[in-house]
Amino acid sequence: MNRSWIETFSESIGLIPKISHRPDWSEGLMMEGPKPLYKYPDPSEWDDFIELDSQAWPEKKERHYSIIPTTCFNCESACGLLAYIDKDTNQVRKFEGNPHHPGSRGRNCAKGPATINQINDTERIFYPLKRVGKRGEGKWERISWDQALDEISEKIRNSLESGHKDRVMYHVGRPGHEGYAERVLKAWGIDGHNSHTNICSAGARTGYALWHKFDRPSPDHTNAKVILLASSHLETGHYFNPHAQRIIEGMMKGAKLIVLDPRLSNTASMADEWMPTYPGSESAIFMAMAKIILDEKMYDRTFMENWVNWDEYLKNLYPEDTVEFDVFIKRLSQEWSDYTPEFAAKEAGIEADQIIRVARFIGEAGSKFSSHVWRGASIGNLGGWQVARTLHLLNVLTGSVGTEGGTAPSGWHKFQPSFFDDPPGPDNWNELSWPPEYTLSHYEMSEILPHLLKDNRGKLDVYFTRVFNPVWTYPDGFTWIEMLSDTSKVGCHIALTPTWNETAFFADYVLPMGHASERHDINSYETQAGVWIAFRQPVLREKARRDGKNVKYTYEVNPGEVWEEDEFWIELSWRIDKGDQLGIRDHFLSPYRKGEKINIDEYYRYIFEHTEGLPETAEQEGLTPLNYMRKYGAYLVKSSVYKKNELELSSDVIKESRVADNGQIIKDGIVVGIHLNGENCTGFPTPSRRQELYSQTMVDFGYPEHATPGYRIRSHIHPDNLDKEKNEYVLLPNFRLPTHIHSRSANSKWLAEIAHRNPIWIHKKDAESLGVKTGTLLKVSTEIGWFVDKVWVTEAIKPGVVACSHHIGRWRRQQDTGNRFMTNTIDIKNMGNGQWKMEVLKGVEPWKTDDADTNRIWWRDGGVHQNITHPANPDPISGAHCWLQKVSLSIPDLDEKYGDVFVDTNKSFEHFKQWNMWAKEKENHPEGLRRPLWMARPLTPQKRNFYLDK
Ligand code: SF4
Repeated sequence: MNRSWIETFSESIGLIPKISHRPDWSEGLMMEGPKPLYKYPDPSEWDDFIELDSQAWPEKKERHYSIIPTTCFNCESACGLLAYIDKDTNQVRKFEGNPHHPGSRGRNCAKGPATINQINDTERIFYPLKRVGKRGEGKWERISWDQALDEISEKIRNSLESGHKDRVMYHVGRPGHEGYAERVLKAWGIDGHNSHTNICSAGARTGYALWHKFDRPSPDHTNAKVILLASSHLETGHYFNPHAQRIIEGMMKGAKLIVLDPRLSNTASMADEWMPTYPGSESAIFMAMAKIILDEKMYDRTFMENWVNWDEYLKNLYPEDTVEFDVFIKRLSQEWSDYTPEFAAKEAGIEADQIIRVARFIGEAGSKFSSHVWRGASIGNLGGWQVARTLHLLNVLTGSVGTEGGTAPSGWHKFQPSFFDDPPGPDNWNELSWPPEYTLSHYEMSEILPHLLKDNRGKLDVYFTRVFNPVWTYPDGFTWIEMLSDTSKVGCHIALTPTWNETAFFADYVLPMGHASERHDINSYETQAGVWIAFRQPVLREKARRDGKNVKYTYEVNPGEVWEEDEFWIELSWRIDKGDQLGIRDHFLSPYRKGEKINIDEYYRYIFEHTEGLPETAEQEGLTPLNYMRKYGAYLVKSSVYKKNELELSSDVIKESRVADNGQIIKDGIVVGIHLNGENCTGFPTPSRRQELYSQTMVDFGYPEHATPGYRIRSHIHPDNLDKEKNEYVLLPNFRLPTHIHSRSANSKWLAEIAHRNPIWIHKKDAESLGVKTGTLLKVSTEIGWFVDKVWVTEAIKPGVVACSHHIGRWRRQQDTGNRFMTNTIDIKNMGNGQWKMEVLKGVEPWKTDDADTNRIWWRDGGVHQNITHPANPDPISGAHCWLQKVSLSIPDLDEKYGDVFVDTNKSFEHFKQWNMWAKEKENHPEGLRRPLWMARPLTPQKRNFYLDK
């Protein structure tokens, strides 16, 4: 064997042993002829894929894998994963991307492959647990699934039989099961759905829904000429990986990227134009851009004339005007006269020239302008819903609604499953989730659930938290602890969770549910201008099936007795209706075996048999639809969907209708479509069937000043509300790190190693004026308490704004277990009179297990729990929690240490009352309605329940 000169040199100075003393592996490592490079194993190899074992090197040891698709559960995107199951050990060896998934196309972010950490977590909850001692004491006993099902079903049955239909609540953190739980709750006849949406996206949803009922945007980034993101979307936002790859595709084809963000996120650093706007000023920017596009006649006249309800705008706001499109444009220009670039620039703290320049890019992009806002500004600010409403105005003006390269309503790109049985909506209204004063709240008022209970507005007999951790994730966590500790408010708390969390510590039952590869779900999201469905499946169950074994319940094959909700709900429902007298069992009967309980295979078999095009595609391969999904894990229902508003109305709908002067097709007093150019078009699902620039709904429900999009609400953290003399700043507390899940990644060693601290980002000018440096301790005082964190001085944040990432600062008490990769050990003191103190006893430390990596933990700093010091700020219109905080910054006293937290829950209750009053002051119920009938509501009750006096 010839030595290279590097080897000769290295040998001579003793860096490597003499080559003659080393074994000659060259022969054994010879390549057996050229093999083409490939990215993914072909599906024909998935039953027996052979790969050399990297850990056996230099021995050439073959490993045989069964490759089984599933979907990631670590964010909403539900990207495709392939589980590589070692045929010798029957264990999952690794996860990689599934190239057959139309949304993710084989790619994942770091959190996808890290699923392997989660399933191999040495501190997993393997068995159902029941509390021993007082709630929150941290003592547990192992019980059987049978015992758990029997005891919980009895409590639910007792609650239902007591006549109350609002005392059983299912509160979901991470959804992703396409209507499954809603169907269960309808079967039980209760308005018991609650979600995390009001701390997440309700602001953006309200803004979009006012335009066209669909409450999310579906941008076609791939084909856009200009992409505008009002958040760090490419980096960590919604549909992170599927959107990120399409944004990059668009940019590679020449699209410009514009990012509004006070923080120089990774996304902003990739942008052609970074607009570091002051938080809450985004609507001013969008209105100024709208005015430029209007005044410079860059708007799409044809789209506006055909698809905007401009006639209603004139008739209602300017009844003396003639109803002509040019008059409408003139009135708009007048209405927007204050929104000059200079005004917006002053509000945002950026250059007016940049606003003008970007507005012209957008105008020139025309129908190829894609845009997105999610979380970020829309959830941060009082009136944050305005951000989505004014952003979508730019799409409307440029005619880029639902076009190639534009932004479509979400529902056009999302699959709706057909269920084997669809129970009627509940015949009641749950005021703990939908209090009467929040008439337009887009989702359940979950951020004030404990405050409503404290306010004696109701109580809960049975409360399920499902992959949901409000004690840690939500604002005002100590009020959540107070609520969960009080058995007179919450009779029984059941945590359905794949991992320990701060909320599960305060449960009566902790029931272990599967990670991505241990459960069933179907997923479909608007990641592109098409429609797909994906199948999350328990991969060891599918492996058992391939091996010819029968499995009745998923927990038989999962680690320990980890189960899944799907089967749990069927069994629980069957037991609630023990005597078959409540009518619940009727909704859980097999569509294939008369009178028998449905099983999970039948549930999905029915859905896939009723998925457009899937049976035919499966048949071409000689497969049933269910087996096709088991094999590939995903199916593209429609490859491209544009301009659905122009779809032809069915003749049934047209029958006995009439066409009004403005083109509206009216039947039985309701607008059902739009007559345009001789065609009868479906339109948008709004009362006018057009894009609603003018909203009669806002007028009717008491907000006439918001009949049209604008920048009329100044954020609660507007500079006018801050006192610089008192060192008051805006705290931006909700930016995400691309490698973390809200509170489900502390069990992942890879992700924890990448990021585990959450220092305060502060601009160097502000640092100088406060006299702090990187690493200095800073006391951050909110309106209800304070926390002590370290400083990171950077130019990547707007002066006047400080930021702290959302995910970090996880904790466990001395009596708790779990998540040691990222949890500080803390002590909580209830000081009485609503005052709570948290102190860090120990940071992160290594520990000994069978996984050698747990003993190699090198980091010690687990960050600081900031969310718990935030008051709940419910927006009176959208209902969204407004995340941005007014804080004052100071140097801590000598006895105030890193990680210390203090909160006064009496103050937080007063704070709730103050914000709640803003909704009460405007409470308006036209015709006795609790909320508009035409707007969507999760788990829609029967119509009569929409009226206060039903
Ligand atoms: S973006 Fe990442 S975390 Fe989200 S589903 Fe895809 S791989 Fe999983």
